[in-house]
Amino acid sequence: MAELYYDDDADLSVIAGRKVAIIGYGSQGHAHALNLRDSGVDVRVGLREGSASRAKAEEQGLRVVTPTEAAAEADVIMILAPDQVQRHLYRDEIAPNLTEGKAIVFAHGFNIRFGYITAPDGVDVFMVAPKGPGHIVRREYEAGRGVPVLVAVEKDASGNAWQLALSYAKAIGGLRAGGIKTTFTEETETDLFGEQAVLCGGASQLVQYGFEVLTEAGYQPEIAYFEVLHELKLIVDLMIEGGIAKQRWSVSDTAEYGDYVSGPRVIDPHVKENMQGVLADIRSGAFAERFIADQDAGAPEFLALRAKGEQHPIEGVGRELRKMFSWIKPADSDYTEGHVA
Ligand code: NDP
Ligand code: MG
Ligand code: MG
Repeated sequence: MAELYYDDDADLSVIAGRKVAIIGYGSQGHAHALNLRDSGVDVRVGLREGSASRAKAEEQGLRVVTPTEAAAEADVIMILAPDQVQRHLYRDEIAPNLTEGKAIVFAHGFNIRFGYITAPDGVDVFMVAPKGPGHIVRREYEAGRGVPVLVAVEKDASGNAWQLALSYAKAIGGLRAGGIKTTFTEETETDLFGEQAVLCGGASQLVQYGFEVLTEAGYQPEIAYFEVLHELKLIVDLMIEGGIAKQRWSVSDTAEYGDYVSGPRVIDPHVKENMQGVLADIRSGAFAERFIADQDAGAPEFLALRAKGEQHPIEGVGRELRKMFSWIKPADSDYTEGHVA
């Protein structure tokens, strides 16, 4: 059974007695900075000169300095810039200021697990990873609740890293919901696997194939969109509330029987073997290497794949159909429909 932590297991005064830097003010960055501030923690935000996020952070009453200044001032440095920029940021701005007794913190273990960042001796390395998007981390905190967090300590140089990690987790509201103890290796490998095999990769491909099969058989694209994409949310909501069992309880007997006989026919044991191949590439570092090499080359593969995905016929159909749903408001106001970077 996993080891769980709640508010009573942590002492807020540990993090409140430190100076904290939040590097980056995106999805996670804004939520961590604001929740820490509202929990009485001394926070500064580190953003590069001319950063588009700067105005947002200042509007919220936060003090914004450069990443170098933030890392120099603070003794707990949370890195919340995108994973692919973290190692450059670390090398140029954080490492030179990472003196003994300080701590570096992550919300995902990618750079530590794959060796892109190695902290010097005398520095604590830990992770507080909310299991939800930053906007929900902020919204739940403001509502007096929290989003569950994963907590891991990679290096306990001070002998106090767990107390500090739990205190940080409490200050962002995570321990109101609960913290689960993990390791950088487990968090990184399972997170990448989940998003690649099931949540993002698997689900997107499943929806696209379903749409293609119906439209190629002559059915109207609008009807296909409803059946294979739109209704997915209703099914997933039921799974979140009560597992696969509640989803099966709620749908018709016809749908439930079809689930049992056709699910394993579509997702056959070969798919499980494919998933094992994906996991092997994650664990060997092959996926990380491919991602980082592409990013270093200016992301040609990434951008080409994004453009190709945007051109799939289901996207155009969806854009038109969603106008019918006046109540569907994008949760993220930074997102523009039909964007291709
Ligand atoms: P975002 O893509 O939202 O981060 C963007 C922010 O990073 C912006 O403020 C941007 O500023 C800043 N930034 C970009 N480059 C630099 C740089 N060179 N120096 C300083 N700041 C920079 O990141 P996320 O919040 O999605 O992810 C942050 C971390 O949290 C990652 O490790 C991720 O894996 C993890 N995580 C993310 C979750 C999520 O919900 N998104 C969930 C759980 C973990 P600018 O305006 O200058 O571009
Ligand atoms: Mg992830
Ligand atoms: Mg139906």
